Amino acid sequence: MIRNDAARSEPTLGPPTGGSPEDPKFLCDRMLIRLCRWLRAAGYDTSLTGERTSDRRLLTAAVVEQRYLLTRDRKLLEHRGADSRVICLQAVRPSNQATELAQRLALDWLHAPFSRCLLCNEPLQVDPGHGAPPDSHGPFRRCPSCARCYWNGGHVRRMRAQLAVWRHAASAGMRRDDESFIL
Ligand SMILES: [Zn+2]
Repeated sequence: MIRNDAARSEPTLGPPTGGSPEDPKFLCDRMLIRLCRWLRAAGYDTSLTGERTSDRRLLTAAVVEQRYLLTRDRKLLEHRGADSRVICLQAVRPSNQATELAQRLALDWLHAPFSRCLLCNEPLQVDPGHGAPPDSHGPFRRCPSCARCYWNGGHVRRMRAQLAVWRHAASAGMRRDDESFIL
């Protein structure tokens, strides 16, 4: 078990532009919307599929955009070429999915925390924090797409602590059943 206070001793927000071309990118099907947001919180470029997108379109998008297609639908594995592109997760709960994915891809859940918008997937930009609540503390980041502002508030700190737990669980080969923080 990692100590939360150890996690809090590190900066909560990651660099404003996390990621490099070598970092894995993801395309989550809609069954994995909460995992999608956690991957964005960790700083990974993660798209979400649209409603009623065909399997073939999903696979084509994953190939063209060089993303791993994350799903719980085993039928997707039956498509030609899917074995190198599709990751079919067995876990049901997002907390277990997080650990399962990290074990399969050597994912780092503290890759670049809070460098992307949880809603839009856009890289966040450094922001002066105008309009943020008076008791909020910087540094501030803002999404250039939806204008949502992020700062080192309690919600971000709790989510970051959860990311730290998942990183530790993956490295220890454990699976956690508790799910303390809901997106
Ligand atoms: Zn946004």
